[in-house]
This record gives sequence, C-alpha cells and structure tokens, in this order.
Amino acid sequence: MRAMVFEGVGRPLRAVQRPVSRAAPGQLLLRVEACGICRTDLHLLDGEVPIADPPRVLGHQIVATVEATGARVGVPWLAWTCGACVQCRAGRENLCERARFTGRDIDGGFADYAVADERFCFELTDDWPVVQSAPLLCAGLIGYRALRMCGDAHRLGLYGFGAAAHILAQVARWQGREVYAFTRAGDEAAQALARELGAVWAGASEERPAQQLDAAIIFAPDGALVPIALDAVVAGGTVVCGGIHMSDIPAFGYERLWHERVLRSVANLTRADASEFLALAPRVPVRTHVTTYPLEAVNEALGDLRAGRLTGAAVIVPEGA
Ligand SMILES: [Zn+2]
Ligand SMILES: [Zn+2]
Repeated sequence: MRAMVFEGVGRPLRAVQRPVSRAAPGQLLLRVEACGICRTDLHLLDGEVPIADPPRVLGHQIVATVEATGARVGVPWLAWTCGACVQCRAGRENLCERARFTGRDIDGGFADYAVADERFCFELTDDWPVVQSAPLLCAGLIGYRALRMCGDAHRLGLYGFGAAAHILAQVARWQGREVYAFTRAGDEAAQALARELGAVWAGASEERPAQQLDAAIIFAPDGALVPIALDAVVAGGTVVCGGIHMSDIPAFGYERLWHERVLRSVANLTRADASEFLALAPRVPVRTHVTTYPLEAVNEALGDLRAGRLTGAAVIVPEGA
C-alpha cells in the first residue's frame, strides 16, 4: 500500500510503499476513502507537538470502509485510552494520562489502509457524503467540545475561520446563536464564507464589532489573540482556546480578565463527544466546504493550509481527488 510518512521535524512527508497493515484482535482493517487535514498536522510537522517514534503516518480524520464487513466508519484523533487512570475513571478520557492518538502515536490515514481500535471507530451511515464528512472527525468534534464550553453564550466570536469554525458557525446558528467571524486581515474569502454560513459579522481579528461577545473560541494558533478576545467578551464571558498548540500569550494586565471572565483550553475529545456531535451534525445539517487532494499531494495540501490558501477544509482522497 501507499503511505505518506513523517520521518522528522521540518521534513516533508515521504511517499513509501508498505505491506498492507495487519489488524490485531480488537482492531479493524480499514480501506481509507478520505482523510481530513488538520492544523495539528502542521504542529506535528514542525515539532510543536512531538512524535515519539517516527516514522509515522499522519492523518486523524479518517473516513474508511471496514474490509471485513463493508461498513463505513470514521476514525478520530482519540485512538486509545487506558480506562483505568484518574481521568478515565472520572469520565474525562480526553485527558487520559496514557492516551494514544491517531496519526501521532499510531499510524493514521494518509495511506491506502489503516488499522484502528474498533472501540474508537464511529459508524457513519451511507447517506453521509464521504469526502464532506472527513472534516467532522476533528475540526467538527473538537470544535463542538469547544462550543459546549461556551455554555449558552448568545453572541459567539470565532477567531480563525478555517475548518473548525466553518462547521461550528453552522451548528451555532442552528442553536440560535449569533456568530461573529474573525479572520486574518484581508482574508476576503474566509469572511465571505462566514457570511454565507450565517455569520452576522465578519472582519479582521483586530477589529471590534459594535456588540460585546458573550463568548469566543480561538482556533488560530496565535497567542496574541488571547488578550484581544478577552477584551471583546462581556464581564462573565468565556474565551476558549481550541487548538493543540499556540504561540506564547503576551503578558496582559489583570483588568482584562477581571469581572469573572474565564479563559480555558479544550483538549482532544471523548467518545461521548463524538457520538453526540455525529448525531447532531446531520440534523443541522452541517455542510462542509472541502478542497480535495490525491494522496501524493499531502505536502502541497499542508502547504496550502499553512499559507492560508484554502477556504474551508482540505481532504486527502487516496483513490484520486
Ligand atoms: Zn485535528
Ligand atoms: Zn486513562
């Protein structure tokens, strides 16, 4: 089978031929139909999120066919949890001390085949469009967890309008919230997509809409946005950092946090998050905007994501885009 492997920090993924993966007991052998690209893949490439033992096949938003049964499943970032640590026992398997993650600790979906623990695979019905459902598996799931952390906030700011935000904007609007979309200055394409998806306001991150926000989620990996977002939320409002990595947050005066503003991060997902979101998404219904690439073009896709050249989400289609 073909696979695109990570061999070291700062190096592009390399195309290799490998024997088809073998499924151990409890695992499923999966033929990859599509695999979404995530900003986390850039953090892995850059060493900001370390990979312990390369070579490693990246890719953690897998839509695949189970070889044995023909069923279609989705494979998310969370690949395995211990079930025994303090966090697992408290229902917080997203924080499991021994958690393993798809495309970081075990091989992921930038390949023709993958194997996955069947307890961490989610059935996708045939009425899901294959390619369009891939971004739901990380951008959607972890974005949804971040949205839940915003409680019943009515005016919701989304900083960084990429794969996650374009999904969440649809969910938030369906929930009756107002969406305010913040992008890099001059990113007209992302702002236009935000308005098309129902955002009441779209502009540059440094701009301030007339209304104070009740909550904000920061998806862009830029720590400088933290004090900016805190200034944009009302007293008692929440700012959620939704990414796995962020540049340093600049020092800021306590008055920006004062009046019970809450600043928190969101890490990974639980299987309960996945079940809840995958049941909710077709009811909205969430429609993802995707750009597809063949397997060999993963590096090009990653480059497009890094440069902000794509709007919506990038998806690898091994059988050909
Ligand atoms: Zn991800
Ligand atoms: Zn655990």
